[in-house]
Amino acid sequence: MTKKPLIYLLASVVIVVVALLLMSRPLFTTEGHTVAKKIGEPSVKSLTSAAASDTAATDTKGNSPEAEMKSLAELVVEYGDLQLIDAHNHDASGFTYASMMKTWKQDSVDRIVLFGDISEPSAIGTDEIAWNAYQEEPDKFIPFFSGINLLDESGLQTVKDNLEKGYFGIGEIAAASTNSPVLANVAWKTKDPMDGILPKTYKLCAEYKTPVLLHIDPPTGEPVAKLEEALEDNRDTTFIFAHINAYNSPDHVEYLLKKHPNLYADFFAGFTASNPESFNQLDDFVSIIKQFPDRFLLSTDSGYGLPGGEEKAIEGMYRLIDALGDRHVAQQVAGGNLERLIRMQPATKTQLEALRKVNDLHGIKKDLSSLTKEEAGKLLSDKETDQ
Ligand SMILES: [Zn+2]
Repeated sequence: MTKKPLIYLLASVVIVVVALLLMSRPLFTTEGHTVAKKIGEPSVKSLTSAAASDTAATDTKGNSPEAEMKSLAELVVEYGDLQLIDAHNHDASGFTYASMMKTWKQDSVDRIVLFGDISEPSAIGTDEIAWNAYQEEPDKFIPFFSGINLLDESGLQTVKDNLEKGYFGIGEIAAASTNSPVLANVAWKTKDPMDGILPKTYKLCAEYKTPVLLHIDPPTGEPVAKLEEALEDNRDTTFIFAHINAYNSPDHVEYLLKKHPNLYADFFAGFTASNPESFNQLDDFVSIIKQFPDRFLLSTDSGYGLPGGEEKAIEGMYRLIDALGDRHVAQQVAGGNLERLIRMQPATKTQLEALRKVNDLHGIKKDLSSLTKEEAGKLLSDKETDQ
C-alpha cells in the first residue's frame, strides 16, 4: 500500500535534483567569465543576479539562456582605450602591487590610487610603500595615506607633512565601522566622521584641495548622519564615500549625492556584480550614475570579499562601463573624475622649495608658480635623471 507513493516520491526527488543541477550551472559559468548569458542590455543583470543569490528565484529572473555574456578579455578589447583608474586599492599592503603589474597591463588598468592598511600604526609603513611605488612609476600610481592617529592632535602634523610631501589624498580612513571584520580592532578608527581630529583634517583637505576617502559602515543611521554634518560644515572639502554601493540602496546613494554637492561616490562595481551579499544589480545604479556623471569613481577595493579576487573586481569595473552604454559618461566615471580631483591640487610649498633647489643647482630659471601637485611630483620623481 505504501509502495506506489514511495516510487512517485523517489521519482520526483530525482526530477527536482536534476532540475536544480541544470539551473545552477550558469552560476558557475558566469564565475569563469567565458560562456555565460547576456540578454542584450541587461547583460550585467544576469551576472549580478546569478552571483548575488543562491536561490533559483533570482536566477530565473536574470538569466536568459538565449544570450551570451561578454568575457573580461572581450570587454578589455571593447573599452581598453578608455582611461581606467582604480580609485581605491590596498595593494601597498604586502607589496601586492608588484605582482599585479602584469594583470593591470593585460586588463588595461591605467592608473591606481594606492594605499595599504587602514587607520592603524602599520599603515604608516604601507603609506611609505605606496609613496615609493609612485616614485618609481609616477604615471601609474596615485599615492594616498592612512597612517594617521585620528585620536590625537599629533595626527594633524602627519596629515600636513604628507600633504606637503605630495600625497594626493587621505584614505582609506576608518571613520566609522561596526560590521567590517578587518576594521574591528584597528587602533586609530574614529567612532564617527566627526570624531577625533577628523573635523580639523577636513579643513586641511580644503586648504590643499585634497580629497578624503572615508570608510563608513553601516552606510546608514548615525554614522551617515555624522557624515552629513561633516559635508555641511566643510563645503570646500571633497569627500569620497568608500564603496558607497556596498550594503547600501541606490535610493540612499541618490539621496546623499543630491543633497551634498561635495560628496563623491567610490563605486566598487565588483561588489554589486559578483559579491553574493549584494542585494542590487549594476543596472540598478545606472540611472543614478547618469544623473551625477561627474561624481562617481570606479574602484576594485583590491577585490575585497570577492571569490575571484582583484581581477574579478576589475571585471566588475568593465561590466559597469558596459552597462552604462554611454562612452562619454563611461570616460568620466572610469578615470576623468579622478584625474580632475588630482589635477586641481596645486604644488605645495615643500615641493616648490625642493624644485627650486634642484633648479638653482643646475642654474635653471623657471617660473614654478602655476605648477600642479601632479606636475611637481613628476618633476621631483625624476629629478636625479634629467633636471
Ligand atoms: Zn578598502
